[in-house]
Amino acid sequence: MRKIVIAIDGYSSCGKSTTAKAVAAELGYAYIDSGAMYRGVTLYLLEHGISFDDLPRVEQALHDMHITFKRNRKTGRNELCLDGVIREDEIRQMRISNLVSEVSVIPAVRHAMVRQQQRMGRKRGVVMDGRDIGTTVFPDAEVKIFMTADVLTRALRRQEELAEKEEHVPVEDIVENLRKRDHLDSTRAESPLRRAADAVLLDTTHMMIDEQVDFVLERVSAMLFSLAANGWQGSEQK
Ligand code: C5P
Repeated sequence: MRKIVIAIDGYSSCGKSTTAKAVAAELGYAYIDSGAMYRGVTLYLLEHGISFDDLPRVEQALHDMHITFKRNRKTGRNELCLDGVIREDEIRQMRISNLVSEVSVIPAVRHAMVRQQQRMGRKRGVVMDGRDIGTTVFPDAEVKIFMTADVLTRALRRQEELAEKEEHVPVEDIVENLRKRDHLDSTRAESPLRRAADAVLLDTTHMMIDEQVDFVLERVSAMLFSLAANGWQGSEQK
Protein backbone atom coordinates (compact mmCIF):
# COMPACT_ATOMS: atom_id res chain seq x y z
CA MET A 1 0.00 0.00 0.00
CA ARG A 2 1.23 3.52 -0.81
CA LYS A 3 2.41 5.54 2.16
CA ILE A 4 1.45 9.03 3.21
CA VAL A 5 2.78 11.77 5.51
CA ILE A 6 0.94 12.60 8.72
CA ALA A 7 1.75 16.00 10.23
CA ILE A 8 0.83 16.63 13.86
CA ASP A 9 1.39 20.20 15.01
CA GLY A 10 0.26 22.17 17.99
CA TYR A 11 1.05 23.79 21.31
CA SER A 12 3.65 22.45 23.75
CA SER A 13 2.73 19.37 25.80
CA CYS A 14 -0.63 18.59 24.20
CA GLY A 15 0.28 14.94 23.81
CA LYS A 16 1.54 15.28 20.24
CA SER A 17 4.50 12.91 20.66
CA THR A 18 2.55 10.23 22.51
CA THR A 19 -0.20 10.32 19.90
CA ALA A 20 2.20 10.45 16.95
CA LYS A 21 4.27 7.56 18.29
CA ALA A 22 1.21 5.35 18.75
CA VAL A 23 -0.16 6.24 15.30
CA ALA A 24 3.22 5.43 13.70
CA ALA A 25 3.41 2.08 15.53
CA GLU A 26 -0.11 1.18 14.43
CA LEU A 27 0.63 1.97 10.77
CA GLY A 28 4.21 0.67 10.71
CA TYR A 29 5.42 4.17 9.83
CA ALA A 30 8.52 5.99 11.10
CA TYR A 31 7.94 8.50 13.88
CA ILE A 32 10.00 11.70 13.86
CA ASP A 33 9.97 14.06 16.81
CA SER A 34 11.06 17.35 15.24
CA GLY A 35 11.07 19.14 18.61
CA ALA A 36 13.83 16.78 19.80
CA MET A 37 16.03 18.14 17.01
CA TYR A 38 15.61 21.77 18.18
CA ARG A 39 16.30 20.58 21.73
CA GLY A 40 19.44 18.84 20.45
CA VAL A 41 20.70 22.03 18.81
CA THR A 42 20.07 23.93 22.06
CA LEU A 43 22.05 21.38 24.09
CA TYR A 44 24.92 21.49 21.58
CA LEU A 45 25.16 25.29 21.67
CA LEU A 46 25.09 25.33 25.47
CA GLU A 47 27.75 22.65 25.78
CA HIS A 48 30.01 24.42 23.31
CA GLY A 49 29.56 27.79 25.02
CA ILE A 50 28.09 29.32 21.84
CA SER A 51 25.95 32.38 22.41
CA PHE A 52 22.63 32.18 20.56
CA ASP A 53 23.18 35.58 18.97
CA ASP A 54 26.67 34.77 17.67
CA LEU A 55 25.39 33.91 14.20
CA PRO A 56 28.69 32.89 12.55
CA ARG A 57 29.40 30.42 15.39
CA VAL A 58 25.82 29.13 15.36
CA GLU A 59 26.11 28.53 11.60
CA GLN A 60 29.45 26.75 12.03
CA ALA A 61 27.92 24.62 14.80
CA LEU A 62 25.01 23.63 12.54
CA HIS A 63 27.57 22.51 9.99
CA ASP A 64 29.63 20.56 12.55
CA MET A 65 26.93 18.83 14.62
CA HIS A 66 25.33 15.54 13.66
CA ILE A 67 21.74 15.11 14.75
CA THR A 68 20.37 11.62 14.28
CA PHE A 69 17.85 9.26 15.85
CA LYS A 70 18.62 5.78 17.11
CA ARG A 71 15.94 3.21 17.78
CA ASN A 72 15.99 1.82 21.32
CA ARG A 73 15.20 -1.87 20.83
CA LYS A 74 13.82 -2.30 24.35
CA THR A 75 11.40 0.62 24.37
CA GLY A 76 10.92 0.90 20.58
CA ARG A 77 11.55 4.63 21.06
CA ASN A 78 13.59 6.76 18.67
CA GLU A 79 16.21 8.47 20.77
CA LEU A 80 17.98 11.67 19.83
CA CYS A 81 21.74 11.43 19.31
CA LEU A 82 24.18 14.31 19.14
CA ASP A 83 27.36 13.33 17.33
CA GLY A 84 26.44 9.68 17.75
CA VAL A 85 25.78 9.82 21.51
CA ILE A 86 22.23 9.34 22.88
CA ARG A 87 21.18 12.52 24.69
CA GLU A 88 17.48 11.81 25.17
CA ASP A 89 17.39 12.49 28.92
CA GLU A 90 19.32 15.76 28.82
CA ILE A 91 17.23 17.31 26.04
CA ARG A 92 14.01 16.77 28.05
CA GLN A 93 15.27 18.68 31.11
CA MET A 94 13.70 21.99 32.09
CA ARG A 95 16.95 23.90 31.45
CA ILE A 96 16.59 22.97 27.78
CA SER A 97 12.80 23.58 27.72
CA ASN A 98 13.49 27.06 29.07
CA LEU A 99 15.86 27.96 26.23
CA VAL A 100 14.80 25.93 23.19
CA SER A 101 12.34 28.50 21.82
CA GLU A 102 15.10 31.12 21.75
CA VAL A 103 17.15 28.78 19.57
CA SER A 104 14.32 27.61 17.34
CA VAL A 105 13.57 31.23 16.40
CA ILE A 106 16.97 31.56 14.63
CA PRO A 107 16.34 31.34 10.85
CA ALA A 108 19.60 29.43 10.16
CA VAL A 109 18.61 26.81 12.74
CA ARG A 110 15.14 26.47 11.21
CA HIS A 111 16.48 26.15 7.66
CA ALA A 112 18.92 23.40 8.67
CA MET A 113 16.31 21.44 10.66
CA VAL A 114 13.57 21.79 8.04
CA ARG A 115 15.95 20.54 5.32
CA GLN A 116 16.92 17.52 7.41
CA GLN A 117 13.26 16.77 8.30
CA GLN A 118 12.28 16.92 4.63
CA ARG A 119 15.06 14.47 3.80
CA MET A 120 13.90 12.12 6.55
CA GLY A 121 10.37 12.07 5.15
CA ARG A 122 11.13 12.04 1.45
CA LYS A 123 10.04 8.41 1.05
CA ARG A 124 6.84 9.21 2.96
CA GLY A 125 5.45 6.71 5.47
CA VAL A 126 6.22 9.07 8.39
CA VAL A 127 4.37 10.62 11.28
CA MET A 128 6.12 13.86 12.24
CA ASP A 129 5.15 16.10 15.11
CA GLY A 130 6.17 19.69 15.74
CA ARG A 131 5.05 23.26 15.15
CA ASP A 132 5.47 23.84 11.42
CA ILE A 133 5.20 20.39 9.86
CA GLY A 134 1.87 20.96 8.11
CA THR A 135 2.73 24.52 7.08
CA THR A 136 6.42 24.43 6.14
CA VAL A 137 8.10 21.02 6.33
CA PHE A 138 5.38 19.03 4.56
CA PRO A 139 2.74 21.46 3.28
CA ASP A 140 1.65 18.52 1.06
CA ALA A 141 1.09 16.13 4.01
CA GLU A 142 -2.00 14.06 3.31
CA VAL A 143 -3.24 14.20 6.92
CA LYS A 144 -2.72 17.29 9.09
CA ILE A 145 -3.76 17.56 12.72
CA PHE A 146 -3.47 20.66 14.90
CA MET A 147 -3.53 19.82 18.62
CA THR A 148 -4.40 22.09 21.49
CA ALA A 149 -5.44 21.74 25.16
CA ASP A 150 -6.06 23.89 28.20
CA VAL A 151 -2.70 25.16 29.59
CA LEU A 152 -3.18 23.81 33.13
CA THR A 153 -4.05 20.35 31.83
CA ARG A 154 -0.91 20.44 29.69
CA ALA A 155 1.24 21.58 32.62
CA LEU A 156 -0.04 18.82 34.90
CA ARG A 157 0.70 16.18 32.25
CA ARG A 158 4.20 17.60 31.77
CA GLN A 159 4.78 17.70 35.54
CA GLU A 160 3.96 13.99 35.73
CA GLU A 161 6.36 13.16 32.89
CA LEU A 162 9.18 15.11 34.56
CA ALA A 163 8.46 13.50 37.94
CA GLU A 164 8.85 10.07 36.34
CA LYS A 165 12.41 11.17 35.54
CA GLU A 166 12.96 12.44 39.09
CA GLU A 167 12.71 16.10 38.07
CA HIS A 168 10.22 17.77 40.41
CA VAL A 169 9.03 21.13 39.12
CA PRO A 170 6.21 23.31 40.56
CA VAL A 171 3.22 23.44 38.23
CA GLU A 172 3.36 27.27 38.09
CA ASP A 173 6.88 27.10 36.61
CA ILE A 174 5.66 24.70 33.95
CA VAL A 175 2.66 26.89 33.10
CA GLU A 176 5.04 29.84 32.72
CA ASN A 177 7.37 27.80 30.49
CA LEU A 178 4.50 26.59 28.28
CA ARG A 179 3.04 30.10 27.94
CA LYS A 180 6.44 31.56 27.08
CA ARG A 181 7.19 28.88 24.50
CA ASP A 182 3.74 29.09 22.92
CA HIS A 183 4.16 32.85 22.63
CA LEU A 184 7.67 32.73 21.14
CA ASP A 185 6.73 29.85 18.82
CA SER A 186 3.59 31.61 17.54
CA THR A 187 5.08 35.06 17.04
CA ARG A 188 8.43 34.28 15.40
CA ALA A 189 8.94 35.50 11.84
CA GLU A 190 10.19 32.23 10.36
CA SER A 191 7.67 29.36 10.13
CA PRO A 192 5.65 30.29 13.24
CA LEU A 193 3.36 27.86 15.01
CA ARG A 194 -0.02 28.15 13.36
CA ARG A 195 -2.77 25.89 12.17
CA ALA A 196 -2.54 25.07 8.46
CA ALA A 197 -5.76 25.95 6.64
CA ASP A 198 -6.35 22.26 5.90
CA ALA A 199 -5.43 20.93 9.39
CA VAL A 200 -8.08 19.31 11.57
CA LEU A 201 -8.32 20.77 15.08
CA LEU A 202 -7.99 18.32 17.97
CA ASP A 203 -8.56 19.65 21.51
CA THR A 204 -7.20 17.04 23.91
CA THR A 205 -8.23 18.71 27.20
CA HIS A 206 -10.81 16.06 28.01
CA MET A 207 -9.40 13.21 25.95
CA MET A 208 -7.52 10.05 26.84
CA ILE A 209 -4.53 9.03 24.74
CA ASP A 210 -6.43 6.15 23.10
CA GLU A 211 -9.15 8.53 21.95
CA GLN A 212 -6.58 10.90 20.45
CA VAL A 213 -4.91 8.03 18.62
CA ASP A 214 -8.25 6.73 17.31
CA PHE A 215 -9.17 10.22 16.13
CA VAL A 216 -6.00 10.44 14.02
CA LEU A 217 -6.27 6.85 12.76
CA GLU A 218 -9.82 7.50 11.59
CA ARG A 219 -8.59 10.49 9.58
CA VAL A 220 -5.82 8.37 8.12
CA SER A 221 -8.22 5.59 7.10
CA ALA A 222 -10.56 8.09 5.47
CA MET A 223 -7.66 9.65 3.56
CA LEU A 224 -6.23 6.29 2.43
CA PHE A 225 -9.69 5.26 1.28
CA SER A 226 -10.22 8.45 -0.68
CA LEU A 227 -6.72 8.30 -2.23
CA ALA A 228 -7.26 4.69 -3.27
CA ALA A 229 -10.65 5.58 -4.75
CA ASN A 230 -8.97 8.33 -6.76
CA GLY A 231 -6.21 6.07 -8.03
CA TRP A 232 -3.56 7.78 -5.87
CA GLN A 233 -3.06 10.39 -8.58
CA GLY A 234 -2.05 13.13 -6.16
CA SER A 235 0.46 10.99 -4.30
CA GLU A 236 2.06 9.50 -7.38
CA GLN A 237 3.23 12.90 -8.53
CA LYS A 238 5.07 13.51 -5.25
O1 C5P B 1 7.89 19.46 20.80
P1 C5P B 1 8.79 20.03 21.86
O2 C5P B 1 8.05 20.68 22.98
O3 C5P B 1 9.83 19.09 22.32
O4 C5P B 1 9.55 21.20 21.09
C1 C5P B 1 10.49 22.02 21.75
C2 C5P B 1 10.58 23.37 21.05
O5 C5P B 1 11.17 23.19 19.76
C3 C5P B 1 9.29 24.11 20.81
O6 C5P B 1 8.86 24.87 21.93
C4 C5P B 1 9.65 25.00 19.64
O7 C5P B 1 10.33 26.16 20.08
C5 C5P B 1 10.65 24.17 18.86
N1 C5P B 1 10.05 23.49 17.72
C6 C5P B 1 9.91 24.22 16.56
N2 C5P B 1 9.45 23.62 15.43
C7 C5P B 1 9.13 22.32 15.43
C8 C5P B 1 9.23 21.56 16.62
C9 C5P B 1 9.68 22.20 17.76
O8 C5P B 1 10.19 25.41 16.54
N3 C5P B 1 8.72 21.75 14.29
